[in-house]
Parts: sequence; structure tokens; C-alpha cells
Amino acid sequence: MIPYGKQYIDDDDIAAVVEVLKSDWLTCGPAVSRFEKALADYCGAKHAIAVANGTAALHVAMLAAGIKAGDRVLTSANTFLASANCAEYVGATADFADIDPRTYNVTAETLGAAWKSDVRAIVPVDFAGQPCDMPTIAALARERGALIIEDASHAIGSQVQHKGKWYKTGGHAWADLTTFSFHPVKTMTTGEGGAVITNDDKLAQRCRMFRSHGMIRDASHFVGLSAPANSRFTEYGPWYYEMHELGYNYRLTDIQCALGHSQLRKLDALIERRAEIARKYNVAFSDLSGVQLPSIDAGNMSAWHLYALQIDFSAIGKSRTTFVEELKKQGIGCQVHYIPVYLQEYYRKRYGYMLGKCAVAEKCYPGSLSIPLFPSMTDDDVSRVVRAVLATV
Ligand SMILES: *Cc1c(COP(=O)(O)O)cnc(C)c1O
Repeated sequence: MIPYGKQYIDDDDIAAVVEVLKSDWLTCGPAVSRFEKALADYCGAKHAIAVANGTAALHVAMLAAGIKAGDRVLTSANTFLASANCAEYVGATADFADIDPRTYNVTAETLGAAWKSDVRAIVPVDFAGQPCDMPTIAALARERGALIIEDASHAIGSQVQHKGKWYKTGGHAWADLTTFSFHPVKTMTTGEGGAVITNDDKLAQRCRMFRSHGMIRDASHFVGLSAPANSRFTEYGPWYYEMHELGYNYRLTDIQCALGHSQLRKLDALIERRAEIARKYNVAFSDLSGVQLPSIDAGNMSAWHLYALQIDFSAIGKSRTTFVEELKKQGIGCQVHYIPVYLQEYYRKRYGYMLGKCAVAEKCYPGSLSIPLFPSMTDDDVSRVVRAVLATV
């Protein structure tokens, strides 16, 4: 069975993990800061904060940005639950913008159309690895006073071209905070894991604080324990810490960070293999009627997390369920990205969101199907997927 996505692990990855297992630090050790430094350098950003998973990264970003009850957060209708749930975690209202029918990403137009006066943050999602049009989106958000938290769970290593220069996701000025996920189906993995990327010193410091219980160990931020001067409670020894905000334990272990660091070293090669497979699919499926292939804008380089087709199942005369079952019989797995989030029971009940809210996302969902794409696929695997799709469509 060829799944729709899968991790790539080699002997270097295994050796890196074993080395940590034999060391003194399984967590809170030097592998964490080494990984964070490498990650920030890779993106071309100032700070990277490693956290337990991509959802925690979004939660920490919301907390660091100070998003709270009474605020509205706009994200894509076409995303995983976590892009919206992070707003709910901090008591804000998750709301949704429609997508472009070709890139499946939100745009300045769709965000503008969904905008309300209480929007304090936006969470654009780089669907399948293709970056959103961040310069245009950032201009809109900044003009209207909203922070930009880019959910780049699909897009570590993606690039955008602006005025002749290429910028990596996380390494440009059109997001205040950028989040990654290192779940095994994503383009690089730490088992579970995630990170927040930012160029802002203050936001980075707040991310670190919220990652670890709201604790502060840096003496320059101490406020004391509300005790009279010279009492036993003003002694700032090496044990001392303060808690200023309610944080969480969202730390990533040294074991995971060592794996992440090792993965990061080959990320560009992994992305190149993904792009190569995507090109093979593009050629093989170019003449299929009733099928829309992924389309990458000229100014974008995608990390190719997904190869998402848009299939007109009524035109080909079989349901998506039948199609998926026929592929499965031929040993091919696939997945659907995504059910419009606001149609989920929780969101319908809480806000009365209903069918008709985002017409394009609703039009795309019934036709969406992602076929296998991961770097360890052999050319033979790719041919098998192509033959199966051509035989089924
Ligand atoms: C995977 C994913 C997340 C969540 O990441 P986890 O590491 O699974 O918590 C968030 N947003 C999007 C768009 C994702 O694909």
C-alpha cells in the first residue's frame, strides 16, 4: 500500500537520535537551541522557538500576539482544524475567509470580503506548500491593524519572489509570526513537533515564556515577589524564577530536536524530490478532462507537501468514495484536503456558521483528492500511482 504521505528517515537521522539518547540531556538540553538556531538560519529569520506540535505553535503564537476574548481571528475555510482552533483556545472568535479556486489559498480580496471591525489577527494558510500572496495580504492586514500569523505547516522551505529576490517562508517581513508542523506527513518531521518563527525580539521572548509555564528566568524581566526590600523573598539565586502569565508545557525534547536538525540538513533535497514527483504527475495527467491539476504561481516555489487534485466526480460518473475504494484496491492511498472548517458541528453550533459562507471552498471540497506524494517514493511507485489514477478516472 502506498500511503498519501509518509516520513523519510535515514541512517543519519537514526544516529542523531541515538547520540542524544546516550547523552546527559533528553529534554531542555543543547540539542534544542542547536535546532532552533539552525531553523532560524534556514528560514533567514532571527528567532525560532521549538514546540511540542504545530497546534501548540499556533496556540503559542496567539498567546504571544495577545489575542484574547473579544477579538476575531480570520483564517482559511480550507485548512486543518488547528488553524481555527488556536483562536478559540485564547477565547477569541474564529472566522473564515474564502479561497482562490486555483491556488486554494486565501487572498487579500477574500480576507477583505470577510473582514469585520473586531479582526485582530489573520492566519493565512499556505495550502499544500504554495505560499499565499503575503505582500498583498500583509498590506491589507497592517492597514487594518491586524497581526499576521502565517500557518506554514505545509510550507517550510517554500519560497516567494518579490521584486527580484527570493524569500523563504518564515524569512520575510509579511508575517509577524510563522508556524510550522513537524508531524510525519509534513515535509520534515520530529515525530510530533512544531516551531514558531519571528523576527520580533519581544514576540520571541513571549513565545518562550508561554512554551514553558509562563516562567521567566531572565533577571532583566524580574518584578519580585511583592515582599519588603532585603527580606528573604528578594533573593534572586540560581533557583529563582517568576511566573507572569499562564503558560503551558509545550516543550520539544532534545531527542526530537536532534531528529529535526538532521532532517533540516536534507530538507532542500527532500523538497526537490517532491517537486520532481509533482512534475511527473503534471505531465502524466495533463490531458485528463474533468481534472484540475495543482497550479503554482510564477513567483512561488512550493515545498509540495501535497499533490491535491480537483476532480469533477459527476463528470467522470463515479462518486469520490467509489474512486477512493478503487484506488485502494490497487494499493494506492489518498486523502481529502479539506472539509471547510466552519461546517464542523462545533463551529456551526457556536457561531451559526452555515452552508453558503465560503462558496469557493464549498465548491472545491467535493472535488478535492490528494494522491501520494513523499520523497521516498520510487519512480516505480510514481508509475504505479499514475497507472492507477488513469485507470480509475
Ligand atoms: C498539520 C497542520 C497543523 C497542526 O499541526 P500538528 O503538528 O499536527 O499539531 C496546523 N495547520 C495545518 C494547516 C496543518 O496541516
